[in-house]
Amino acid sequence: MSFKALGLDPNILTAIEEAGYTEPTPIQAAAIPVVIAGGDVIGIAQTGTGKTAAFTLPILTRLTSNPVPQGQRRRTRVLVLAPTRELVAQIEENVMAYARHLPLKIAKIYGGVGEKPQKDALRAGSDIVIACPGRLLDLMEQRCADFSQLEYLVLDEADRMLDMGFLPDIRRVINQLPKKRQTLMFSATLSKEIETLTHEFQRAPKIVQIGKRANPAESVTQLVYEVHKHLKMPLLSHLLKDEKMQMVLVFSRTKHGADKIAKKLESTGVKCATLHANRSQNQRLRALDDFKTGTVRVLVATDIAARGIDVDGISHVVNFDFPHIVEDYVHRIGRTGRAQAIGDAISFVSPDEQPDVRKLERFINRGLVRKKAEGFDYNAAPQPFIDERPERREQRSSQPRRPQGGGGRPGGGGGQGGGRPGGYGGQGGGRPSGQGGQSGGGRPGGERRPASGAASRPQAQAPQQDTSPAGARGLWKRLTGR
Ligand code: AMP
Repeated sequence: MSFKALGLDPNILTAIEEAGYTEPTPIQAAAIPVVIAGGDVIGIAQTGTGKTAAFTLPILTRLTSNPVPQGQRRRTRVLVLAPTRELVAQIEENVMAYARHLPLKIAKIYGGVGEKPQKDALRAGSDIVIACPGRLLDLMEQRCADFSQLEYLVLDEADRMLDMGFLPDIRRVINQLPKKRQTLMFSATLSKEIETLTHEFQRAPKIVQIGKRANPAESVTQLVYEVHKHLKMPLLSHLLKDEKMQMVLVFSRTKHGADKIAKKLESTGVKCATLHANRSQNQRLRALDDFKTGTVRVLVATDIAARGIDVDGISHVVNFDFPHIVEDYVHRIGRTGRAQAIGDAISFVSPDEQPDVRKLERFINRGLVRKKAEGFDYNAAPQPFIDERPERREQRSSQPRRPQGGGGRPGGGGGQGGGRPGGYGGQGGGRPSGQGGQSGGGRPGGERRPASGAASRPQAQAPQQDTSPAGARGLWKRLTGR
């Protein structure tokens, strides 16, 4: 199938050609005709399958075939909501590329940066607004936006937005939009409960689903390394000796853990950047840029980076901590193997994380291959402390706060830890190594999840650990049979 056969505007076809796309991806082939026909859509496709173009290209075509009459004041016709600043920036980049031959104004709205340019862009009547819900709501409250003529609403990463607790903000935004509009929801995963919620915002949506729901990208080789917690850091350093690991995205469950992993890797001469909610917007953009350009080989991130970050050529994803929630796993590993490139998703699994692995295996309906790293001493004693400071607990604020990749609340952090202190304590003998820096059994990533969001998914609890050497060995045996 060609893009031409999908009925796209000639100027858009030119832009697609210039972007180097030769044919539509399956989600594009399935969704574009439905959107052009004017229907609401729930699009379910894995990350990296081209879903941004799947909603942008037909909307641009419809905008072009129905231009605003000359002399009429410009008003916003399209609103795209997305959960994180990075995703908003990335969608805007794509929309700019696809609309490069069209006379359209595009604005991006997110927190952590000054409001003024965003207010100006809204007041000037941008045709397309791409926004994080929190900051957008702030600016709407200041009467900067005019959505009275809005025709298209897109919720990207809809499941994550709802799951992150954005639902109240999204409701408040949508309540101020015209009822007569076309609404598209796109997501890599969409649970039944969220599917039910979509009916609140859509009319008779058509579900466009590519592949099995939440099935990790087929091109990714997934491997599990069973390893005691105190050996995760040495194992990472060991694996990084392999030059094939050229561009590595390491996931940590906590911000503090991410910092410690990066610090440790840097101390062994591996260039690293970190990406998490405690970093400023500029630091985050710089980290991504350094990673993209190869200035650093490793990017250590929390789950904030798992969705929507489109970095070409990631050779390996390493789950330093195994995620509690299966969808998070799917999103993390979706960062590699993009555009059919072969990538490896490596998970370090300590005994207490085995139940989460089994949960995932049931979910994806197959077992993950266990691998042993050659030349690595799995029986090594814990290393001496690298960092003598006590574990700093990343506190979950008791105050519900607006979740945000925007909204002007710096970093939008919080939500880390909050559970039991657990950390990398003394599995398999000896005292805690102090490496890695877990701060509790809270939710993976833990970013920007207020109390309201927590209800939408059960919080997975890590099993209680007996961290004495004997207890750890027993636990390992019980979990692994070895
Ligand atoms: P997305 O799923 O929207 O994040 O897109 C993932 C990547 O695929 C992006 O780098 C896009 O530029 C790229 N892409 C989207 N559509 C196509 C296509 N039809 N052919 C080749 N690459 C594409």
